Amino acid sequence: MPELPEVETVRRGLEGLSNKKITQVFRSDKKMRIESSLDLQGLAGAKVLNVGRRARYLIIDFDNKKSLILHLGMSGKVTLESQFKQLKHDHLACKFNDNSWLVFNDARRFGFIDLVETKNLKTHKMLASLGPEPLSDQFDFTDLKPKLSGKKMNIKTAMMDNQIVVGVGNIYISESLFDSKISPLRDAASLKDAEIKKLIASIKKIIAQAIELGGSSISDYVNAKGDLGYFQNSHKVYAREKQNCLLCKNLIKKIKQNGRSSFYCPQCQH
Ligand SMILES: [Zn+2]
Repeated sequence: MPELPEVETVRRGLEGLSNKKITQVFRSDKKMRIESSLDLQGLAGAKVLNVGRRARYLIIDFDNKKSLILHLGMSGKVTLESQFKQLKHDHLACKFNDNSWLVFNDARRFGFIDLVETKNLKTHKMLASLGPEPLSDQFDFTDLKPKLSGKKMNIKTAMMDNQIVVGVGNIYISESLFDSKISPLRDAASLKDAEIKKLIASIKKIIAQAIELGGSSISDYVNAKGDLGYFQNSHKVYAREKQNCLLCKNLIKKIKQNGRSSFYCPQCQH
């Protein structure tokens, strides 16, 4: 599943669309998880003002006061192409005035495409209750401490709650907990102030590094150019079960928490 660093990498690859105008819109007849609020043909003639992102949602604002929300789901890809081949799982394609195409392809259709009025973005059902971005100044000790103190669950599951902080998915929370030497088994409310500060710093560091390396290529993620990311080569615990910890040489352990795999070093993380 593409996580925040992957989606941010895709967003950066689309920044060049600013000021380009859509001349043609293709929408397949396949239903997505959420049907678009507005007719996607309403994009024809619209000029791109900004290519943004919130959590794992790509948000393209247009000069006709409409915004396109793209969610990659499990296997979605948003790529820029020199021609549109209308492949089997291409659900949306927009042609621009320089003859380039923006193509949204999603074989499993867990993603969605929603064209909305820009003024309604803040209240969109998928965006309204989202917590702060991990790299924003808003995600800090003052913000996080009260959110954790009331949580009756382990710290790993808590940090994957989008109302606490967005976009810290399974890979990045495993890596961040290792970096801050905190066990994923700890109760969220049990973290000491110094540990909360360390965890915030680790999350910011790990997410920034992952974006720098173009995200992690597991399953079938690619960026806007169709290239792979390289952060998976930097994973210290994720998917390294039964391999040696890079710090203490003991074996990395894999457990299930809330139905998701967690990877950690029982020796280094407390
Ligand atoms: Zn270790």
